[in-house]
Amino acid sequence: MDRTLAIIKPDATKKRIIGKIVERIEEEGFTIAEMRLARLTEDEAKGFYAVHKDKGFYGSLCEFMSSGPVVLLVLEAENAIRRWREVMGATDPAQAKPGTLRRAYGFSIERNAVHGSDARETAEWEIAYFFKKK
Ligand code: ADP
Ligand code: MG
Repeated sequence: MDRTLAIIKPDATKKRIIGKIVERIEEEGFTIAEMRLARLTEDEAKGFYAVHKDKGFYGSLCEFMSSGPVVLLVLEAENAIRRWREVMGATDPAQAKPGTLRRAYGFSIERNAVHGSDARETAEWEIAYFFKKK
């Protein structure tokens, strides 16, 4: 079983579509191992997205990610990382395939409704970032 970190981003919680996204997660056969509503500080967002710190969109992205509530989830499934990225679709909602969450609910390349880890090592790092066991 693989694990991945999913985030329902502030644009999606503001649109009141947490339920629709969680429903899709369950329909797709993922097991929700952890789930928590959170409000990220800008510093937490900066730490989470540190890999992007040299990109032009980093400041705006971190401001956006701390602008409202998010839902943090750990999803389990066979090939969870790859499968969740398929369900999300491409980063830019305009490029995402029909039927994907970002195509359905994304507003822009920044405000794209959901996050998913991109590899096994980053998934474990991201899960530990938010769900470190005491
Ligand atoms: P993904 O979330 O698909 O793995 P990235 O890791 O490349 O995409 O980027 C992380 C997040 O940064 C994206 O989900 C999106 O919110 C934001 N982002 C990526 N590229 C841009 C861009 N060109 N302009 C603004 N925001 C961006
Ligand atoms: Mg990424």
